[in-house]
Amino acid sequence: MKTALLLLSVTGMTVALGWAQQNQPLVGENTTKISDHVWAIMGFPNIAIVAGERATLVVDTGMGPKNGATAARVAAKLAPNNQKLFLTTTHFHPEHAAGEPGFPAGTVLLRNLVQQQDMEKHGVEVMDRFRNNSAQNRELLDGVVLRAPDVVFDGEARVDLGGVQVRLLWFGEAHTKGDELIFVEPDRTLISGDVVQNKTMPNIADDGGTPSSWLSVLDKIEALKAAHILPDHSTPGDGSLVEGERKLIIEIRTRALALKQQGITVDEAGRQVSADLKTAHPDWPNTNAAGFVRAVFAEAK
Ligand SMILES: [Zn+2]
Ligand SMILES: [Zn+2]
Repeated sequence: MKTALLLLSVTGMTVALGWAQQNQPLVGENTTKISDHVWAIMGFPNIAIVAGERATLVVDTGMGPKNGATAARVAAKLAPNNQKLFLTTTHFHPEHAAGEPGFPAGTVLLRNLVQQQDMEKHGVEVMDRFRNNSAQNRELLDGVVLRAPDVVFDGEARVDLGGVQVRLLWFGEAHTKGDELIFVEPDRTLISGDVVQNKTMPNIADDGGTPSSWLSVLDKIEALKAAHILPDHSTPGDGSLVEGERKLIIEIRTRALALKQQGITVDEAGRQVSADLKTAHPDWPNTNAAGFVRAVFAEAK
């Protein structure tokens, strides 16, 4: 909790609010099985490991190389006979991508083009921001320099792990411009990054998407008909999380636009919508919608 408050006071990023529950940046080695071929290290963020008969894919790295090395070690333990290791990241933020140097030589790094552009534009700046959040982050991100991906794709890449096909997808802008979605067949498991969450506020990062673009991304996700969903910062669930995310975004947008029409300021609207959500969802870890309300106001201008 102390770390969360520190994050808030230093960065002022509303994104930090949603992390209060699970913001411990050191990931462990325990795994939770999500579906036949998918496991997760639950932490900040949840790291997915997809194991086929010949190769293994890790999705997201944890904060810095120490966590990346843990993820790679766990992946090797889950599928000791697999010679090939693939790595991809859901977006460029440091807890998702900055652990790459901890992976063994020969790891094949894949990333969609827009995410790579986000990384080139804002990667260093955001990593510096995280370094200043806490002594622990500073240590975890010390000296981290990220390499270029081995494969950069536009809209979709397919990876065959042996008996398991994985689709790496870019459907448009949401939490960031470059959010990548990972769909595992035949499990029908979606690794949804920060785009589909569970009882968690949507957050649009600086230079990210808009409420409308996020909804368009959800339309495309819906068509996948996922059976299992593993979000990055909340607990796994079934395919209904997609509809839940859409309802939440529409609920926030509708309410915020009504307040805007009444001449309510963006700050006051943020407070009111957050309070309403707390009443509607008393069990949610946090309902601070201020950032998203700001995005709704900005889009409606
Ligand atoms: Zn993020
Ligand atoms: Zn995240």
